[in-house]
Amino acid sequence: MSSITLKNLVKKYGDGFPAVNDVSLDIADGEFVILVGPSGCGKSTLLRMIVGLEDITSGDLLIDGDRVNDKAPRDRDLAMVFQNYALYPHLTVYENIAFPLRLQRGQYSDEEIDTRVRRASSLLELDEHLDRKPANLSGGQRQRVAMGRAIVRQARAFLFDEPLSNLDAKLRGQMRTEIARMQRRLGTTTVYVTHDQTEALTLGDRVAVLRKGVLQQVASPRALYEEPVNLFVAGFIGSPPMNFIPGEVTEDGIRTPFGDVPLDDRLRPAVEGRTLVIVGIRPDTFKDADTTPVAEGGVTFGADIDVTEWLGSELYAYVPFDTHEAVAGKLEELDRDLDGEGMRTQLVIALDPMTALGDGDAA
Ligand code: ATP
Repeated sequence: MSSITLKNLVKKYGDGFPAVNDVSLDIADGEFVILVGPSGCGKSTLLRMIVGLEDITSGDLLIDGDRVNDKAPRDRDLAMVFQNYALYPHLTVYENIAFPLRLQRGQYSDEEIDTRVRRASSLLELDEHLDRKPANLSGGQRQRVAMGRAIVRQARAFLFDEPLSNLDAKLRGQMRTEIARMQRRLGTTTVYVTHDQTEALTLGDRVAVLRKGVLQQVASPRALYEEPVNLFVAGFIGSPPMNFIPGEVTEDGIRTPFGDVPLDDRLRPAVEGRTLVIVGIRPDTFKDADTTPVAEGGVTFGADIDVTEWLGSELYAYVPFDTHEAVAGKLEELDRDLDGEGMRTQLVIALDPMTALGDGDAA
């Protein structure tokens, strides 16, 4: 097991804009870190730089404190699991798992290989399928074989590049739990790339959010959700996404299309020195005031509900304000025919330091 340190890492392809731009991150021994962001944000490039499949333009990559920028992938001793599994179709499950050990010619005896393959396959519940070829396995089983190849070597860290994106929703859920369980059991340092925020929020100890090659925030899933540092993170994390409503700061509150929001200790520092702000409201903080008592600092307002969507366990309502529409979620108690009387919300504010918010400019 190992710590991985990224120091001001930059990757430029040709003369273009950097795909990875000055990324610094300390990944502790045994930690599970998720790299998440929209398509093209540079997350795969960053992972490939760590494993050694991509040159580092500038900056330092340290494994256990040693600079490994110039080390070949095989000397970094990291195990990568790819999106397409990269299994050998002509080899059995047993031989696929054994492959990384056979590659290190002479380093492992046949007996040692057998012990390791059987230990990995038992951990992944693949014992009964050792003689099969990949074509005769389900997507989830193939995924487990790919993971078996990673764990059989007892590598210093696991690197996953969107390993579940080819699976159907049900299997994806199962494998997500499987990966979390295995990582906890083995305690191996893990870096996991995904664009799926459910994976990001459920799997990692910490989540690193990337946008256009730049690290936006690194935090626990809960901290990302509750205290996003800017509008991008606020809008990217959470489903349905956070509502952004324009607001004007007045002496004692924020004037918004749905009413005046009083400034509490949490909001006051966030709006200081600003006149126009964006107020972020999580859909699940809307409550039905008829059935839920108003919390301290909460705001009560009337709203007409446009459309409702019922998703089995949750009800979402679309609520128009002026020119804006907000989504209110988790309204289990809400009468679907309600005309929108007495909707209530508690507020979270999200301000984007990367856009001009001062001097009266809205983001
Ligand atoms: P996705 O989720 O779509 O895989 P990503 O976040 O993993 O996206 P990368 O694949 O790391 O993003 O790509 C980051 C940027 O670098 C993109 O703009 C991409 O077009 C560019 N890029 C990636 N590989 C190369 C390459 N070999 N040559 C030139 N540009 C590249």
